[in-house]
Parts: sequence; structure tokens; C-alpha cells
Amino acid sequence: MSAVPRDVACDVGVLGGGAAGLAGAVALARSLRSVVVVDAGQPRNAPADHAHNVLGREGTAPRDLLAAGRREAEGYGVRFLDDRAVLARRDDAGFVVELLGGAVVRARRLLLATGLLDELPDVPGVRESWGRSVLHCPFCHGWEVRGQHVGVLGSRPSALHQALLFRQLTPRVTLFVQDLTVPAETAEQFRALGITVRTGTVRRVGGADGDLRVEVGSEVGSEEVAVHALVVTPFFRARAEVFAQLGGQLAQNAMGEFVPTSTGGATDVPGVWAAGNVADPGAMVAASTGAGVLAGAAINGDLVLADARAAVETARAAR
Ligand SMILES: Cc1cc2nc3c(=O)[nH]c(=O)nc-3n(C[C@H](O)[C@H](O)[C@H](O)COP(=O)(O)OP(=O)(O)OC[C@H]3O[C@@H](n4cnc5c(N)ncnc54)[C@H](O)[C@@H]3O)c2cc1C
Repeated sequence: MSAVPRDVACDVGVLGGGAAGLAGAVALARSLRSVVVVDAGQPRNAPADHAHNVLGREGTAPRDLLAAGRREAEGYGVRFLDDRAVLARRDDAGFVVELLGGAVVRARRLLLATGLLDELPDVPGVRESWGRSVLHCPFCHGWEVRGQHVGVLGSRPSALHQALLFRQLTPRVTLFVQDLTVPAETAEQFRALGITVRTGTVRRVGGADGDLRVEVGSEVGSEEVAVHALVVTPFFRARAEVFAQLGGQLAQNAMGEFVPTSTGGATDVPGVWAAGNVADPGAMVAASTGAGVLAGAAINGDLVLADARAAVETARAAR
């Protein structure tokens, strides 16, 4: 692989080299667009040992999956900068993106694929087991904990739905309710399904993977509950500093904050597309990959029209 210069110009700058960014880069490069991917190397699912629900690559380690995607992209001529985009601005030709390491990427269009940050509950021990025994997604990890005792940290309303989703996978679910009211209808569902509800503050999580100790405090003291895994509901915060610098406005829903997009990942900032978790907090690997491909196709379509307009201007000027 040849070294990428410190000041590099391309058709499309892809910020983020996870599933969405790599898929977008491949789609663009296969349309003979010059592409530079800037990647800070911290994919969201890195703490997990395996990626599931990835058709054809079921159970592959997340970093192996991305390494394969990167090789495929390089095979089509995509250039990579292992760096972080820190500052973006518009210029006459498109965008100028400054990287932490000092390099500059000049691009006609940008694909934002920087993913999201999982803001975890501030409970000691949660971060240490995140992605292994502290979980959030029944589709990513549910099969692995089927039939086991699963705790659900009820610190946000979406935890109520999480408890029901995990109940599909195991008859042994305990919801630790704190700062949350369980509506009467939901409480009745929990009783009917045998979901245990314990009220109290989860003070810490200890133990080993697969054998967690959840310390629950209440007015009458504290006690430890043993669970195989603990489900949490992070706040999903888009990694979108660059988008904000370009004048973009984030949107928010019950799950978190994201870059709003329309068909093909177009954002409200002309020339900027977004794909994957930065635009859709619920998108798993396959959906992020699909969104990346669609955004790549949409960007290429936009450039085709821009090139056609430019060709007409050149032809007219020559007449
Ligand atoms: C613990 C865990 C387990 C999961 N397991 C599964 C699973 O089994 N199956 C599944 O389908 N999904 C799973 N997911 C969801 C999966 O992680 C996401 O769907 C996927 O990572 C989204 O891809 P993405 O490309 O949008 O973002 P990411 O994969 O997060 O990639 C974004 C990339 O952009 C980089 N970046 C961020 N900011 C910048 C910047 N300013 N400049 C340059 N680069 C930047 C990051 O470092 C990162 O490399 C899991 C998530 C978690 C948290």
C-alpha cells in the first residue's frame, strides 16, 4: 500500500471506517470515484468477541470483519488514513477536513460514517464488562445468554421493553428498577410472564463474565444478586462534531441523538451524506453496511450530475 500524502484531494472523503464507511467507500470506488477513508479505529462493537446477524460471516470477530472490508476497499484503490477528523470547513471545491495528525483531506463530497458513542450508566463495573457480560442488544448477544438469569438495569424507560425482549430468550429475567415508574399495564405483563421486578439503586457490578454480582441498595440496606449478564440502555450519542462544524443540526429521539437524513443518507448540509450509527442508532452491522452502500450510490449519482453540468459549461465555453 502506497503512503497517502499529507494533503490529499479526492472525490469523496469518508469519515469513519466501520461497516458503513467501508461499504460506502467500496460502492464509490467501484464507480471509479477517488476515495479517502479517515478512520480513528474505534468501531463501536470492538469490545465484543463476535458479530452476529451478519449474513455469510456469522460470528466473525468485529475487527476481522472490518479488516476484510478494508482489504476489499483497498483492492479498488481506496486510500486510508488512520487518523481522526477534527475540523471541517467548506471551500470552493467542496470541503477541507483537518486531521488530528496534521494531514488535510480535500473532498468534493463527504460521507459521515463516524458511528456513535454508547453513554453507559454511571455504575462502577459496568464499563469493565461492557460488550461481554454487560449488554444492550438482544439481537447481538441474546442467543448467547438464552436460558440464563439476565438482569436488566431499569434506569431509562426503554429498559421496560428490553426486559420483554430478553424474556423471549430466557424465563429468568430480573428488572432492577431505579428512577423509573413501571406503568400498571406493563407491571401486569411482567407478572404474567414471570419477570421479577426489584426496586432499588444498582450501586456496583462485580464478578466475572458470565457470573456477575449486582449490588442493589434500598432504604433497608443492600444485597447482591447473581446474574449471568446485565442489560443496560445506553444513551446513543452521534459522533458528529464535524457535522456540527459544517452547520448541521442533530435530532433526538428516545434512544439518543443522531444526524437526520433523507433517502440515500443525504443530510441537510449540502454535499454531506451520513450512514450507519451516526444517522441511525438502531442500525446493526448489516443495516449500517446497507446504508453505506446506498449513500455511496447516492453520492456517486450527485457527482455524475455535477460532472454533467460542468461538462456542458466547458462545451459551451469552447463554442
Ligand atoms: C458491544 C456491542 C456489540 C455489538 N454486536 C453486534 C452484533 O453482534 N451484530 C450487529 O449486527 N451489530 C452489533 N453491534 C452494533 C454495531 O457495532 C454497529 O451496527 C456498527 O458498528 C455500526 O457501524 P458504523 O460504521 O456506523 O460505526 P462504527 O462501527 O462504530 O465505526 C465508526 C468508525 O468511525 C471512527 N470515527 C469516529 N469519529 C471519527 C472521526 N472524527 N474521524 C475519523 N474516524 C472517526 C471510529 O473510530 C470507528 O472506527 C454491537 C454494538 C455494540 C456496542
